[in-house]
Amino acid sequence: MLSAVKGLSRYHTEESLRVYLLERSHRTEHGCLVIEGYGRRRGVHQKVAGRAWAHIAAYVVLVGGYDPALDVDQTCGAADCIEPTHLRQLSRAEACRSRNQLAQCRNGHDRELDPATGRYRRVCRSCNREAQRRWREREAAEVAQARAAYGRS
Ligand SMILES: [Zn+2]
Ligand SMILES: [Zn+2]
Repeated sequence: MLSAVKGLSRYHTEESLRVYLLERSHRTEHGCLVIEGYGRRRGVHQKVAGRAWAHIAAYVVLVGGYDPALDVDQTCGAADCIEPTHLRQLSRAEACRSRNQLAQCRNGHDRELDPATGRYRRVCRSCNREAQRRWREREAAEVAQARAAYGRS
């Protein structure tokens, strides 16, 4: 069944791949098992163990019964999540639809409907607001620090 995982390093057995995936992932407060692949970007599908997609490898060795004709999708909406209970297989069209129509963002905020399109907004405004607040706090702290250093000299 490992042959169904495209790009997987030949050295892996099902058991070693299971260990490898779990070693590279951590549990989040939302119950996701988020894996860190080679790339620096988070929140997107991750490549691991050669050039294999982590969520597909995880489906094969942690869930089982993988069907290569179908997509693997995360019910939690986190593309880098490999928690077996969050993984399911869908047709490509179904996967697209459900990805676009997730009612909550990955941090569990309810999405807002865009009145213009009748679909959920892609960007979560609560997450955005929080990110901006964190950025402003960091900036204020840096300014305060710079001022203090200036005052001392
Ligand atoms: Zn998840
Ligand atoms: Zn959010």
